[in-house]
Amino acid sequence: MSQYEAPVKDMMFVLDQLIGLDDLNKLKDCEGINNEFIESVLTSAAEIGSEVIAPTNVDGDRYGVSLKNGVVEVPPGYQEAYDKYIQGGWNGLGFKPEFGGQGLPATIAIPVNEIIMAANFSWSHLALLSQAAMRAMEIHANDELKNLYLPKMVSGKFSGTMVLTESQAGSDLAALNTTAEPEEQHYKITGQKIFITWGDHELTDNIIHMVLARLPDAPEGVKGISLFLVPKYLVNADGSLGKRNRVETVSLEHKLGIHGCATCVMNYDAAEGYLVGQPNQGLACMFTMMNDARIGVGNESVAIAERSYQQALAYAKDRIQGTTHDGGKRVSIIHHPDVRRMLLTMKSQIEVMRAMVYSTAAELDYSRKSESTEDQKRHGDRVDLMTPIVKGWCSEVCQELTSIGLQIHGGMGYIEETGAAQHFRDARITTIYEGTTGIQANDLVGRKILKDKGLALQTLLQDIELTISELDTDHSIIARIEHELSESIESVNSSLNYLMNHYQDDQHLAGAVSYNFLMMLGTLIAGWQAARSAQIAVQQIQSGASDREFYESKLVGCQFFAEQILPKVHAYGKSIRTGSAATMALSEDQF
Ligand SMILES: Cc1cc2nc3c(=O)[nH]c(=O)nc-3n(C[C@H](O)[C@H](O)[C@H](O)COP(=O)(O)OP(=O)(O)OC[C@H]3O[C@@H](n4cnc5c(N)ncnc54)[C@H](O)[C@@H]3O)c2cc1C
Repeated sequence: MSQYEAPVKDMMFVLDQLIGLDDLNKLKDCEGINNEFIESVLTSAAEIGSEVIAPTNVDGDRYGVSLKNGVVEVPPGYQEAYDKYIQGGWNGLGFKPEFGGQGLPATIAIPVNEIIMAANFSWSHLALLSQAAMRAMEIHANDELKNLYLPKMVSGKFSGTMVLTESQAGSDLAALNTTAEPEEQHYKITGQKIFITWGDHELTDNIIHMVLARLPDAPEGVKGISLFLVPKYLVNADGSLGKRNRVETVSLEHKLGIHGCATCVMNYDAAEGYLVGQPNQGLACMFTMMNDARIGVGNESVAIAERSYQQALAYAKDRIQGTTHDGGKRVSIIHHPDVRRMLLTMKSQIEVMRAMVYSTAAELDYSRKSESTEDQKRHGDRVDLMTPIVKGWCSEVCQELTSIGLQIHGGMGYIEETGAAQHFRDARITTIYEGTTGIQANDLVGRKILKDKGLALQTLLQDIELTISELDTDHSIIARIEHELSESIESVNSSLNYLMNHYQDDQHLAGAVSYNFLMMLGTLIAGWQAARSAQIAVQQIQSGASDREFYESKLVGCQFFAEQILPKVHAYGKSIRTGSAATMALSEDQF
């Protein structure tokens, strides 16, 4: 079982050199954000991640959670880890100081979360879901609710949940039928919800459920959904806890992975709740939670893949099997070209995923903190376009990478003892919750590309063209990367043209090609990040940077990505351009 070591050096590379702290710290409330400050935050996060949270990971998986006499019991060490986490102020990192937070930008909160998630993925869901609920409150709740609940949530004394799914309403939230009846100053919430992450536990004093429900006179479909705050324990006006609300945990789900995370079936039986935001505007409030959470799932994918990689790398250096290619001495498996291919497939994609996720978090900060509304909109449009790609592409790639991590262990990967299988099982959820890959792909092609006639995407493609034009092709590796990226963008442009020219004549086209479109764009954008990273690495090597080995390794990772992974863009593009005919040809009975 390998240790987890936070990849602070690569995180700093992305933050400082790829995103650029000099620009970031010109934003409102970001003045003190510099290299030293971030490095010290990440080093402290790495300490709590490796020393306090990571040791709870294996027990979390083995013991799991259980429901006994109506109480959710958690694995050993969870309470101590949570207490240390909130004592360190980590829970409120990205939240406003007026509620007790530290007001740091998303660009810093995201690598901290990567560390926490890699340390113990199951445990970290408690913090992540709380943060999503807090974000929705911060933006949509009235002052009274904010003042009563947010300080306790930011401090970590209360946790939060996202309560959307019902058995008949998963991807299709229009079908949800939990009700909210007005009564005096509040509402009575009634309905059953499934799959609620950390819906119940005793780790915090109270749990604040953010529940989607329908008012009596609500319109049909998603236009009739409202958001309600429903506490496990009612909270008195002075902040003290009152009686238990009518919220009950019916059962816990038995799952393929994330065993150390309570996934609850919850019953709300005329529970007291309070409206958050405007009536029937729950969908917009929900998207505040979901969009942050979707970028968060991209970040999770980086985290689990990194953990899986560290473990596979340690095994590859240790496991002796076979001989050198000339039949000489016995060697560790890292000497075999195919094992190197697997390791580089992991390393190169983890690094570009990290670049993609952190860059999107930076766009989020620019969209929230830029001075002009024009700049806010420009960056907001980029976040909107990138969100389904970050969620969909990173989580799909994470499946492949954690599977490779297991494969590198050979038979021992299939045996639970090594721990490689846990990452593979845990990672499986990332393409499902917060909207499946199919739903991300629909969102990308339908809402983010066709709706604005491809304008936001064209702007992104222009940015990639600009990078291509600035690459130093005198360097042979950069020239290789430039060649692959230029060919890839051509392929994307012809697929985009095909979609724009045919989607109105072929009603199934958008749905049939959306997955391939998402994967094609994710791969291209990752290639863009690889090109930018490679250019920086070359500059650093040429200027005699002290950590030459790091930059050489970075450059090889980028080269590997451009040569071995980026060409997938052509395959995705080609299948997009074949249209929907075969996909839709069979009748239901012919399947
Ligand atoms: C471990 C776990 C934790 C979860 N945590 C939470 C939580 O905290 N809060 C919460 O509210 N929910 C939570 N969920 C629920 C999760 O968000 C849903 O499971 C997910 O959104 C998919 O919904 P579904 O399961 O109903 O699948 P379905 O919607 O039935 O989808 C089944 C398949 O059909 C496809 N599909 C469905 N509709 C379309 C369409 N229109 N176009 C194309 N393809 C489509 C999907 O992509 C999928 O492949 C959790 C789920 C799990 C398993």
